[in-house]
Amino acid sequence: MKITERLKRPGKLFSFEFYPPKTEADSEKLFETVKELKALDPDFISITNSSTGAAPYRTVALSGVIKEKLGLEVMAHLTCIGHSREEIKAIAGRLKILGIENVLALRGDIHNIEGIPPKREYRYASELAADLKALGGFSIGGAGYPEKHPEAADFETDIKALKTKTEAGADFIITQLFFENRFYFEFVEKARKAGVAAPIIPGLMPLTSYKQLQNFSKLFSVFLPRVIKDGVEKYADDKESLLKFSVEYASRQAEELLKRGAPGIHFYTLNRSKATKEILKNIR
Ligand code: FAD
Repeated sequence: MKITERLKRPGKLFSFEFYPPKTEADSEKLFETVKELKALDPDFISITNSSTGAAPYRTVALSGVIKEKLGLEVMAHLTCIGHSREEIKAIAGRLKILGIENVLALRGDIHNIEGIPPKREYRYASELAADLKALGGFSIGGAGYPEKHPEAADFETDIKALKTKTEAGADFIITQLFFENRFYFEFVEKARKAGVAAPIIPGLMPLTSYKQLQNFSKLFSVFLPRVIKDGVEKYADDKESLLKFSVEYASRQAEELLKRGAPGIHFYTLNRSKATKEILKNIR
């Protein structure tokens, strides 16, 4: 089912994000994880992409296999800065052949294409959303940043860009992860004030290691509350307690988000199942 159709139905939506594995052993592990999480009856799962070389084809292939073999609804991520319009058309055509009707239209990160010159045919995700809309047949998502996209000069510019993206074709928005819900609520308010009507699904990621904390806060420029820093540092050498702490924190976040109107939750699973399973058990 297209995500746009699902969003019109009653009930909160739950989705899980995975990235394509690099090795055979990782592929097997991923299939096990997806199978386990399938038992939680997600509305869709999503497969990330990268702007380099053959990466999109890995995403396309994995999306097709998961849809066919596991019968799950899939959203394929598609980044545009590393591709020509012709390449994007070809990738979209393959997705259609495989029955994939949901695409997350992204610009992609510049640092992903270091050493490979961007094709310069696309500048922003809104241009990709417009092309996918013109091709037809897709339910199109776009990315949103409750703490502002790091490259945007200010929030106003970023919200304007979000509006342009939805006007160009993005039917719904999935947000960057955040650890304080006020960022999501304020972001939704700013978006609505600017005339963005599309559903905005919050993205949530439970931290399960000390290393993640260091990597993600830097990589995504998101605010880390003291309580998270303290908790993750306290349990740095105790995986079980860290998982418990992190699951409890994310469960409280999810509960409040849903109670105060979020249409669902998109989980960044990092190809693992345990934390997501526990959180869903807590909030359902
Ligand atoms: P855009 O919407 O194009 O925005 C990029 C910047 O340009 C922003 O600062 C924005 O304010 C500005 N901008 C946009 N339009 C205009 C305009 N018309 N005029 C002026 N400024 C403008 N990356 C991957 O490589 N692979 C993935 O699979 C992936 N999945 C993601 C999933 C989610 C849910 C999210 C939130 C992000 C994901 N990303 C992924 C990261 C994303 O590619 C980066 O954050 C990237 O830097 C921006 O992508 P975007 O689609 O938001 O770009």
